[in-house]
Amino acid sequence: MTILLRLRSFHFAGLAGLFIACAALTAWSKPKPQTDPAPPIVDPGPLGGPPSDAVVLFDGKDLSKFRGERSPEPKWNLDNGVMATTPYGGLFSKEEFGDCQVHVEWAEPSVVKGTGQGRGNSGVYLMGRYEIQVLDNFDNPTYPNGQCGAFYGHNPPLVNVCRKPGEWQTYDIIFHAPKQLTDGKVQAGSFTVLQNGVLIQDHIPVTGEPTTAAPLHGLASKAPLYLQDHGNPVRFRSVWVRRL
Ligand code: MG
Repeated sequence: MTILLRLRSFHFAGLAGLFIACAALTAWSKPKPQTDPAPPIVDPGPLGGPPSDAVVLFDGKDLSKFRGERSPEPKWNLDNGVMATTPYGGLFSKEEFGDCQVHVEWAEPSVVKGTGQGRGNSGVYLMGRYEIQVLDNFDNPTYPNGQCGAFYGHNPPLVNVCRKPGEWQTYDIIFHAPKQLTDGKVQAGSFTVLQNGVLIQDHIPVTGEPTTAAPLHGLASKAPLYLQDHGNPVRFRSVWVRRL
């Protein structure tokens, strides 16, 4: 009789344990209550963008979203939906940006001229300070932290993924601006860059030191995007920015 009672008691304890384990497992596997707001809907637009929430700086129609580096009016050439550098300086966007995503399409001259830094040099400067180099490095070596796709003077690209001279290329840049903290220190920002869809800068720190000869200096919360004139005829056909 005593043995029978003990067996029943053991059986009951086992079932209770199993029940508790099942309840715990069910609670653990249940999805947490959804409290995140629904992400806003963005129409991605055609392949390559611009998406519906982008600030379109250039779509081939006019240069009205820019001012000249040395004049109120931009003095680049516009022909058949393409704008090209001239010797009258670079372009500043009229709008200012801090953290952002940038898409740029550009092409090096079809007729190859010059060597090293003198072949198809231009640049995309975030906040007018931090340059992602534009250069014709298809069969044209130069110093690594100054070649196409470099965070100029700071970090070379992971790979050389340049297309041939004359062919259209893309940059997709994710930029986080360095920030001035209240204790006087600087919180580094970052660059992540894809050229022609290939990762070339992988979350590289942006400490606040501008590219040599950058047109703007010092820390700021937002500033214009700058496209460089370096004396070489580089063409652009699509430039848009998404604020992050
Ligand atoms: Mg440059």
